[in-house]
Amino acid sequence: MGSNLSFKKMLSYPFTFRQSFKRIQRSQSTKMVLEGPHNPKDQQIVDKFRELLFVEGQLQVKHFDYHTLLRFLRMRDFDLMKAKDMFLQYLKWREEFHVDAIAKEFKFEEYPEVKKCYPHGFHGVDRYGRPVYIERIGMIDLDTFLQVTSIERFLKHHVSEQEKTLNWRYPACSLAAKKHIASTTSILDVKDVGLSKFSKPARYLFMEIQKIDSSYYPETLHQLFIINAGSAFRVLWKAIRAFLDPRTLAKIRVLGTDYKSSLLEVIDPSTLPIFLGGNCTCAEYGCCLLSDKGPWNDPQIKQMLQGMLQTEDENEGELMNSQSSQDSSDGDPENVPIKSVWDVVSLRDEALRGNSETKYNDQVLLHKLQAFEPVLEDAKVKIRMLEVALEDTKSVLQGLSQRIEELKR
Ligand SMILES: [Zn+2]
Repeated sequence: MGSNLSFKKMLSYPFTFRQSFKRIQRSQSTKMVLEGPHNPKDQQIVDKFRELLFVEGQLQVKHFDYHTLLRFLRMRDFDLMKAKDMFLQYLKWREEFHVDAIAKEFKFEEYPEVKKCYPHGFHGVDRYGRPVYIERIGMIDLDTFLQVTSIERFLKHHVSEQEKTLNWRYPACSLAAKKHIASTTSILDVKDVGLSKFSKPARYLFMEIQKIDSSYYPETLHQLFIINAGSAFRVLWKAIRAFLDPRTLAKIRVLGTDYKSSLLEVIDPSTLPIFLGGNCTCAEYGCCLLSDKGPWNDPQIKQMLQGMLQTEDENEGELMNSQSSQDSSDGDPENVPIKSVWDVVSLRDEALRGNSETKYNDQVLLHKLQAFEPVLEDAKVKIRMLEVALEDTKSVLQGLSQRIEELKR
């Protein structure tokens, strides 16, 4: 069977070559769309941030891409130390909460039942191309909700949705809008929400979701419209405000029943559900919040993204192979790790940037690497000097204790 396959491969070679060349060309331009332009000033501070994380011994390069690091920096007003603390907390949480496993394996079988008693979901894009998320929290039936699922399971589901938004919905929206999209426009319908609805489990659920979103998915909210805010909600809002950071608060607009024109400013009526004053009914699904319609479910975009993920996996495989062969061939294993980690990051960063300035950036990174080496050498020398000084102190102390013993006698 194997020879048969390779024979087939040989026959189709010129064709596959042309195809893969086209695929590479296309994937380069799609990568540029996905990645968006980098602000040189932001790039500089992101590079600094990444260096800082390395010095801390953090090597989880998969989360070190430009946009992720920039989100954490922005959330902390570009204070490197504060951003670092926040980011380290985030990495720790990812491990403890098993986020990667949840994103891959968690199945929320009860989702259709949950949607019935807690209407929410993604629905299309706003005029800019950002995904729109809608939640009708006033319609939540908490008793039924707690019968069909548990808060623990719902939080897992929430995290898996956040991961899906970051890794699937935003890239899909970027491809559809042909520009980098990385934030959500949200609508929270608080009709009939007041203190009476805010029971203990509801409060707990709200606080946990709020904690996860603000601590671990910072700067993914573009704008939040709270609509149908009555007097009961406004009392509650005063208490909730206290828990929100000023950056998030600045993105929230609290509106009464006269919200329609504000929503239509940012969302086309064809995409706005009929219950919010638009024209969309999603009749084939029974309700707009059951359709999950949007570029992320567009078959063509899905195919493009799947193709990109595949090449990314292949690249990652090659990267790992080249790294391990380098490790084994290098004579001095002590000097290898930092250098190869830098290589991984620079290659990874280039793959993410995906532009034609690779060679130039390689040079810049090489210079940085070279600049980093003397610092390391310097640190090593200082450590050796300290070791010698310690040895000296030790022998002096030993001499002293001997003297003391002698004097005692
Ligand atoms: Zn709809």
